[in-house]
Amino acid sequence: MPRISYRYPDHLRADAEALPAMPGVYLFLGEDESLPLYIGKSVNLRARVLSHLRNRSEARMLRAARRISFQRTVGEIGALLLEARLVKERYPLLNRQLRRKGRLCSLRLSNSAPEVVYAQDIDFAREPQLFGLFNSQAAALLRLQELADAHKLCLGALGLEKLPKGRACFRALLGRCGGVCRGDETAEAHQHRLLEALQDHALTCWPWEGGIGVVERDGEAQQIHVVHNWCYLGSAETPEAARALYSVSASFDADSYKILCKPILAGTAEILRL
Ligand SMILES: [Zn+2]
Repeated sequence: MPRISYRYPDHLRADAEALPAMPGVYLFLGEDESLPLYIGKSVNLRARVLSHLRNRSEARMLRAARRISFQRTVGEIGALLLEARLVKERYPLLNRQLRRKGRLCSLRLSNSAPEVVYAQDIDFAREPQLFGLFNSQAAALLRLQELADAHKLCLGALGLEKLPKGRACFRALLGRCGGVCRGDETAEAHQHRLLEALQDHALTCWPWEGGIGVVERDGEAQQIHVVHNWCYLGSAETPEAARALYSVSASFDADSYKILCKPILAGTAEILRL
């Protein structure tokens, strides 16, 4: 099959070539500029925007676009945080992956079966023993089911299946449950295996009393991203301006958590106490 060759549309070429080869966020804007077509981020705005021509749907988006605007950031973390914020605020037509439908929930482990808990009810930044971030109860329970399959956990003990008292579950007969339901292992051993299975999904409680600044530098330029309770509150150039962005009442934000967790916990990010 012949390769379809796309040409970068002339009406956008000047905008694209004027972009700096630096980190930031770009917006493809159509007729109605209040509703962007697409918002993306890159450590190299110009290269990324010029590469936006890989398939039919991108070509269609480029034809519909009238203008490309951008906002610079000092580094990659700033670009990720700004992109997530703008996608939430401006609902671009084509961004699907960052869009969060449904109610944010997690799995909470106590002494009994794991339960689905919601961010609107409890503070995910402070609650211990939470595992995973999901957009729906169904997604959370599906993950639990997948872990049960992979680790031979008992659906009865996980609360995913009602078992008559004293009866082994069906999966135990098939050898797909470790058999806590028929006494092959203790409840404690099963709980321990569940905890191990969930370990990769463990949420980290916000490790500070108050807020912090995550500092990014590029030569003389610096940007301080203000974060509290895993919630991104904005960026500033000076510590004074950063303190002005701080809010005591910030509450857990899943995008901020996913972006910031690694650099903060790995110790690779420069931290400023606010
Ligand atoms: Zn079982």
